Amino acid sequence: MSNTQALSSHKVLLGSRIGYIEPAVRLVVGFFLLVITAGFFLFPKLNSLWLGLSIFVFIGLIGSGLTQFCIMAWTLRHMGFRSEWDELKKLERAHTEEKTRAGFLDTLNLLNEVIVEMSTDGELTWTSDKWSELFGKDAGITPSGGSLNFRRCVSGEYLEKFDQMVDFLRNNPEKQSNINFLVCGNDTDGRWVEGNFTLSRDVENRERLRGVLRDITKSHEEQLAIAHKATHDGLTGLPNRALLENRIKQEIGRARRTTKKFALFFIDLDKFKQVNDTAGHHVGDEVLKHVAAALSSCLRPSDTIARWGGDEFVALVLDLEDTASASSVAETLHDSAQNKLKGTLAETITFSIGVAVYPDDADSIGDLIIKADHALYSAKSNGRNNIQRNQAS
Ligand code: GH3
Ligand code: MG
Repeated sequence: MSNTQALSSHKVLLGSRIGYIEPAVRLVVGFFLLVITAGFFLFPKLNSLWLGLSIFVFIGLIGSGLTQFCIMAWTLRHMGFRSEWDELKKLERAHTEEKTRAGFLDTLNLLNEVIVEMSTDGELTWTSDKWSELFGKDAGITPSGGSLNFRRCVSGEYLEKFDQMVDFLRNNPEKQSNINFLVCGNDTDGRWVEGNFTLSRDVENRERLRGVLRDITKSHEEQLAIAHKATHDGLTGLPNRALLENRIKQEIGRARRTTKKFALFFIDLDKFKQVNDTAGHHVGDEVLKHVAAALSSCLRPSDTIARWGGDEFVALVLDLEDTASASSVAETLHDSAQNKLKGTLAETITFSIGVAVYPDDADSIGDLIIKADHALYSAKSNGRNNIQRNQAS
């Protein structure tokens, strides 16, 4: 049922009529007329007096009734009586205002966005109809029923952000604030919402948050996909050169602060061109995918394996025990990846690895890459399928 329908079905109740001016006036006039009528019957000799009085009352009522009414109304008002007429006017005004507001709320319900009004603790005082569509059935209600709380619909990790936003609006009441958050609910997990909020005070001077909420799941996912595409290789799904370089830079910063060592392994497939030439590019692509999967499965989650380009991969291996362990880690990677390729399209593939260690072999990203690449070149020159470390010159 719409807000306007709900409103028109309400009955306007006046409540008790005791204490209103108009019935009191009617009572006084009625009493006056009763006294005159009784006088007529009880003291008929004073007929002329009663007649005169009646004429006076009628002339008074009809002719100067307004004056009498005003005087009487003024007196009664000062005696604490209320005006029925004023009350009716007030009710009528409130009814018109309610009707306008209900019409306005009906219009808000046409929006795809959800409009909410709540306390700064998240207790919702009003939501537009699309609320349950965006947040799911029973969203925000405690298991035992009861009040609706916005905070119950916001995924835990975003609650702090929500509180920070409320603080910001308290300090900047003239501003709006925007927050993106993940929805939590039984049937709405994984949905993203953008909320625009303002903070104001209601007639009782309580803080009220008003917000417009929009489902941005689709655009959020598209943005993630674009960001993933910009930083990952399309064929293997591995991080690309840009992302790897970023991580190396971060790792150099961390290693400088903690005096930790890390290694770069340049890994190039041996005689890969032959695969393309004999089996075709399509098979070559599949081989690259198998190699990518084998290499990633041999590294720790904190390490990175990236596709550098062509048939060349680079592993960033963190937190080395010591410099000497770099070559043995490379050997383990080489052997276990080779093992993982058994039984796949890529089982005959071998690879050569060039190793460079930070900070022993070089202390900048550019030099480190050059050193690892030189080491790889040495491995190729050494007959392929082996590991070389290019040490600081
Ligand atoms: P080497 O042992 O010296 O490394 O020789 P190689 O045959 O492996 O040749 P090299 O590493 O110099 O060249 C890599 C080749 O990989 C060149 C190109 O034909 C092929 N290649 C590069 N990118 C792709 C790709 O995305 N898919 C396929 N199928 N082949 C690729
Ligand atoms: Mg190669």
